[in-house]
Amino acid sequence: MKQDQPRPTPRAGIMDIEAYVPGKSTAPAGVTKVYKLSSNENPLGPSPKAIEAAREVAAKLDVYPDGTARRLREAIAEVHGLNPANIICSNGSDEILGLLAQTYLAPGDEAVFTEHAFMVYKIYIQAAGAKPVAVKETDERADVDAILAAVTPRTRIVFLANPNNPTGTYVPFQEVRRLHAALRKNVLLVLDAAYAEYVRRNDYEAGIELVGSSENVVMTRTFSKLGLGGARIGWMYGPAHIVDAINRIRGPFNVNATAIEAGIAAIRDRAHIERSAAHNEKWLAWLNEELTKLGLRVTPSVGNFVLIHFPDDNRHSAAAADDYLSARGYILRRVTGYGFPNALRMSVGTEEANHGVIDALKTFLKS
Ligand SMILES: *Cc1c(COP(=O)(O)O)cnc(C)c1O
Repeated sequence: MKQDQPRPTPRAGIMDIEAYVPGKSTAPAGVTKVYKLSSNENPLGPSPKAIEAAREVAAKLDVYPDGTARRLREAIAEVHGLNPANIICSNGSDEILGLLAQTYLAPGDEAVFTEHAFMVYKIYIQAAGAKPVAVKETDERADVDAILAAVTPRTRIVFLANPNNPTGTYVPFQEVRRLHAALRKNVLLVLDAAYAEYVRRNDYEAGIELVGSSENVVMTRTFSKLGLGGARIGWMYGPAHIVDAINRIRGPFNVNATAIEAGIAAIRDRAHIERSAAHNEKWLAWLNEELTKLGLRVTPSVGNFVLIHFPDDNRHSAAAADDYLSARGYILRRVTGYGFPNALRMSVGTEEANHGVIDALKTFLKS
């Protein structure tokens, strides 16, 4: 090996990025029954119609998918009352978030998000060579005034997870409108509505109207929290000029054939989505009540998960609770990287899983 020749080196800034760490999916050796409550998946599983559609496409996997995912865009458009030309589908909504960063950020630019926001924003901002600007939240909720105060002449994107993960809190739509109205028109507002299907609040909107009536707002959505995390299907609704720019740099076949067919079947299965949302509404309220009765503080969530805060004593810390629950097959999410060293995020699970966690926590807290 020649010592005097340097190795290939990543672009400046790439090695400063801390890689995303997904939720654990395994329990310690010896645990037979595992309840994965660490990735906000749907406890009801995929739509049976999506499973069937995926099976059918398996025999035709030699054929390239439609690079524009036209039929999937049309199915999404029909359900949500949108123009399919304003939709881009992606390999999970993560991909579209990355494409937005690559398209609109350059070195020297800034992009704003909130302190406990979904972590991929920071990764994609850094990957584009731009500066991540994290803004304080108020009571674990995005604060519109704080966001606006952080906007500078260099700001190019504001990312808002609404509702946010891992807090589960949301910004009422009047506040989102106030944020948009105060932003310069060349700042892109990205409304990440990954949990929109689960929100049951009259003052919440995912952002469809705002996208339709402005030139600097996009809304991103995902099928992952509705039972298709493994299929990797996300989508964006945005103005034509943004769709046009993204279409120039995305992978030409970024959504695979299985994802397209499963996605079409899933979004048309409204009954499955309604069942999933109804299950969540019931068990989210139940978990809140039971956890509160145990003396644990829970951040008020409108998503399909709860953020549980643990007491300050070492024996009953989040880390200790995580060990205790994992040993019994209940896999929750550590959220230290999100600024919550003493909390765990728990996805709403099946009736059995929910009861199991509460029973285990009862014994844990007495120990
Ligand atoms: C899960 C999640 C996503 C996207 O997930 P994909 O599986 O990539 O579609 C986006 N934003 C938030 C806030 C999420 O929690």
